[in-house]
Amino acid sequence: MRLNISSLVGRKGAFFKVKRELPGQFVASAPEVNKVLGPIIAEFTVANTGEGYLVTGSLSLDVELLCSRCLRPVKTTLETSIDEEFLNHPQEHSEDPWDEEPLVEGNELDTTSLIEESLLVSIPMKPICQEDCPGLCPGCGALLSEGACDCPDPTIDIRLAPLSKLLAQMSETTTPERRKDHGSSKEKTFKSKS
Ligand SMILES: [Zn+2]
Ligand SMILES: [Zn+2]
Repeated sequence: MRLNISSLVGRKGAFFKVKRELPGQFVASAPEVNKVLGPIIAEFTVANTGEGYLVTGSLSLDVELLCSRCLRPVKTTLETSIDEEFLNHPQEHSEDPWDEEPLVEGNELDTTSLIEESLLVSIPMKPICQEDCPGLCPGCGALLSEGACDCPDPTIDIRLAPLSKLLAQMSETTTPERRKDHGSSKEKTFKSKS
């Protein structure tokens, strides 16, 4: 977005506020982003500082990310704040060339790269759909949030594998008993009804 600052030129301390909707499709280039769901909402205040123009404000954008554990879509709003001064003249003794302030271009400020960088940095590195998302089974890729799969439990230590087999056998033999209990309780309720 290019901001015209001609109304502030020569008026130190003067400022204006601006609210714009901007295309946000560039955010879809980030691997964590599945879809861009809306325009960027940008609300900026631009103030003449004497040496240049200070741009402060906020950016927000609705996106659909993919859960880093189970790959299901997660809707979220990227939100970030902006605080950058555009200078009238280049700084003479800049210590770090990568940290240089952007420059005023004629009567305009080009906030495009400022907006792009700020939003890309605000994308969470490892988004999750819910705090306790169990993710996918490393064996078969099943969605573990929808129930366990038939794979042997990969979290069990290999040295304890014989024990887990024994436990599995034990739980198999106890299952029919539970079913019997369940059946008898059903019978009871049937009897009490009649
Ligand atoms: Zn998940
Ligand atoms: Zn599995």
